Amino acid sequence: MLESKQCPACGRTFAPRVAWAVYCSRTCQKRMHRRRLVARRKAAGLCPQCGGELTAVPRVGGYKGNGSTITYCAKCRAYFAARWRGAG
Ligand SMILES: [Zn+2]
Ligand SMILES: [Zn+2]
Repeated sequence: MLESKQCPACGRTFAPRVAWAVYCSRTCQKRMHRRRLVARRKAAGLCPQCGGELTAVPRVGGYKGNGSTITYCAKCRAYFAARWRGAG
């Protein structure tokens, strides 16, 4: 019987099926992998979404978001803008 562990991704306690299990599920494993990838991209000054180079884009008037530090490349920005518009 293996001791229960705490998943570093979701914080849940789970019973691992194998001794080397770190995350409770593949979903959490993927999530943490992605989080690390995003952190590395941000540190490198790249788009956290696709890892592409960030292009300097002049600020769009009317947007008051000086608290936001996340910036995406033009491609991903367009993608998110379309998604936000489409999402209910
Ligand atoms: Zn988890
Ligand atoms: Zn991008």
